[in-house]
Amino acid sequence: MKPRVLAILGATGTIGVNTLDVVTRHPGRFDVFALTGATQVERMLEQCRAHRPRFAVMSDPAAATALRERVAAEKLAVAVLDGADALTEVATAPEVDIVMAAIVGAAGLPATLAAARAGKRILLANKETLVVSGQLFMDAVAASGAELLPIDSEHNAIFQALPRDFGGDFQQAGVKALWLTASGGPFRTLPAEAIAAATPAQAVAHPNWVMGRKISVDSASLMNKGLEVIEARWLFNARPEQIKVVVHPQSIVHSMVEYADGSVIAQMGTPDMRTPIAYALGFPERIDAGVPALELLGRQLTFEAPDTARFPCLQLAFDALAAGGNAAAVLNAANEVAVARFLDEAVPFNAIAASIAHALDALAGGPAATLDDLLEADRQARRVAGAWLETCA
Ligand code: NAD
Ligand code: MG
Repeated sequence: MKPRVLAILGATGTIGVNTLDVVTRHPGRFDVFALTGATQVERMLEQCRAHRPRFAVMSDPAAATALRERVAAEKLAVAVLDGADALTEVATAPEVDIVMAAIVGAAGLPATLAAARAGKRILLANKETLVVSGQLFMDAVAASGAELLPIDSEHNAIFQALPRDFGGDFQQAGVKALWLTASGGPFRTLPAEAIAAATPAQAVAHPNWVMGRKISVDSASLMNKGLEVIEARWLFNARPEQIKVVVHPQSIVHSMVEYADGSVIAQMGTPDMRTPIAYALGFPERIDAGVPALELLGRQLTFEAPDTARFPCLQLAFDALAAGGNAAAVLNAANEVAVARFLDEAVPFNAIAASIAHALDALAGGPAATLDDLLEADRQARRVAGAWLETCA
């Protein structure tokens, strides 16, 4: 079999590293064409040594310069590119079959959308792309014939639990609801006052998953689940009321599909992102992921309702979904700004939800017909939320 040619956007991140781990387990099956990162020169250099991609992109020009020198000194046959346009270039290169979209945040949107327009098989980890540009992105996938496989563990689980030929028609497929599980994050049992006073170190200490810092904070605020509700709306053509959230602290059931006949099909496994990554890399084949077998004996699986009073970000996401238009782009951008400020210890944890609510009040209802409209909503939300956060710094 000819190796499938792979571009990994966000290769130096948690999802990128896990992707390369799966790739390494299957010599000859994949050909790594391009790896991208932002600033982590050492890690990118290691990845270049191990995988010999044709291109390594650093979105940060200074990091690219540093990498270029190191690559030249080691005589590696890797061309180093820099800047955001180079991300799009490698994501759309004619040689590439599969694009792993694993950049964090709306920064991943242009290259991921370009890959969709170019008709690639897209392994979508970068949920923010769908949150910001859902309709546009799905239209681009449909128009080009791109293949979209979800990497987010919940959406990957739902994808696995839906009929293989599911085309987005709930009625026809007999699907009643999608159940997204949420771990509840590190603050699940804390009272509101303790959550308000939480530090970045506490917020990124996730009980079940090792993830990048931004998504870890999103998990602590339940904004991650909110973004995933919006992601599910677009991936599966679900109406908001067909998407349910249930807190399942053990993270064994990764999500479920409820059918008209009362059946509920769940996908379970050890919480390890290599399972959804391997599923999507090998699809429709099942390939080894290096994940330890699920040990169910002696385990208790529990389920509880999410508490939107202590975790208002989840409700804000449902509100933005109901509002439609530019609201989800505003929600996402305000959240990105607020999380970055929180990680810098400039604002308290509960300023995240408050600044998003403020940005939605100020900006929701604006134009959202084109990509430019959405990018403008993103820019304005960063400005409005940033200014508001200054007042509580
Ligand atoms: P991470 O912070 O570990 O890695 C982010 C990657 O994006 C890095 O390679 C970084 O270099 C790159 N990057 C950051 N800013 C960039 C910019 N401005 N331009 C270009 N590249 C940039 O994050 P992660 O945990 O790997 O998450 C990546 C994406 O996958 C996120 O959208 C996240 O929500 C999603 N996701 C992650 C997990 C997980 O378990 N880590 C699970 C589900 C979904
Ligand atoms: Mg998830």
